Amino acid sequence: MNIKIGKIFGIEIKLHVSTLLIIGLVGFYAANFYATLVPTVSLIDLLLVGIINGLIILASILVHELAHSIVAQRYGLKVKEIELYLFGGASKIEEEPRTPKSEIIISAVGPLSSLIIGGLLLIFLFTLPLSLPLGVVITLFYSGISNIGLGFFNLFPAFPVDGGRILRAILWAKRKNLVAATKTASRVGTFFAYGLIVYGFIQFLLFGLNGIWLILIGTFLNNQTKQSYLQVLNEETLSHLNAKDMISVPRLEIPFNLTLLEAISQFFMLYKKEYFPVIKNGLIIGIIHIDDIKKVPVEQRSEFIVGYAMRKLNDFPSIYDDDSGKQVMKKFVQMESKPQLLIVKEHRDDFILGLIGKDDLVSSLRFCQLNPEKCQ
Ligand SMILES: [Zn+2]
Repeated sequence: MNIKIGKIFGIEIKLHVSTLLIIGLVGFYAANFYATLVPTVSLIDLLLVGIINGLIILASILVHELAHSIVAQRYGLKVKEIELYLFGGASKIEEEPRTPKSEIIISAVGPLSSLIIGGLLLIFLFTLPLSLPLGVVITLFYSGISNIGLGFFNLFPAFPVDGGRILRAILWAKRKNLVAATKTASRVGTFFAYGLIVYGFIQFLLFGLNGIWLILIGTFLNNQTKQSYLQVLNEETLSHLNAKDMISVPRLEIPFNLTLLEAISQFFMLYKKEYFPVIKNGLIIGIIHIDDIKKVPVEQRSEFIVGYAMRKLNDFPSIYDDDSGKQVMKKFVQMESKPQLLIVKEHRDDFILGLIGKDDLVSSLRFCQLNPEKCQ
């Protein structure tokens, strides 16, 4: 559930619905802080301070991500979008940084911008006249401290958090091995994640609900660490294969004029796959997924032909036969629509050679585990 809110420097900015929760929570804590200092404050003032603080944090997270994205663009990396969600933001940079130095700079500018924003807000607070309304004082103080907290949290050497990326880049420069560097940085990340969970649990036992946040963030970080490491490892493993090697074999294709009933009995029931390519005159013209068949009422399945129920090839992303397995893996990570499928085309004439599905990705990884000499 994403809401597109606009484009900055050609980068799409998306808000996940869970972002509303950050605004609400930060707002709640800011208002709570206000009410503790001034018990007589009016409800309208509390609401106003809450909403403004929530929005400032959201804008601050956006600036943090924009800093990463703009510097990444400077280094020639493509940035597709920035997504803001419950635990902060993520810049979807389409490639890994090419050198340790660029990774260090791209990673450092995010926390640096948070620290600068936080510092400026606090400097404002201490240089402005004392007669400022209390709501403004609280807002400057609260959002200043929050930004500084955000900056320091992101400097934790816990991969894939910014600090962890910096650690990985330093190890990468020393050992000249990206996977080994990622492995060590991920171990540190896991250690920090469990540390947060344990600390959150102790806080929860001693002080109640606030500790839950640390437990949630720790669990989230732990998942991210595992996933990011696996992605780097898989990309590296597949980088010596090309897309052509990963195409589904044997090629099982359904003729376009088969009825859905026949397709079910002769293909779906028999081979227990979720989708098949559809052919006409020896050429792949579409994909039929089990969900496409489910949409047609049972009594019509003996008349309906596959060619009418299938999805068009244009609905799926494609890749060239000589692109590397690393590229295939990246396309899969970016794919949002289901079923996750890649069309493999011949580079010379765009002729469609076949498909790569998620199961083919898994079997290619298994192939590399069994035949490491062929994947080096
Ligand atoms: Zn960051």
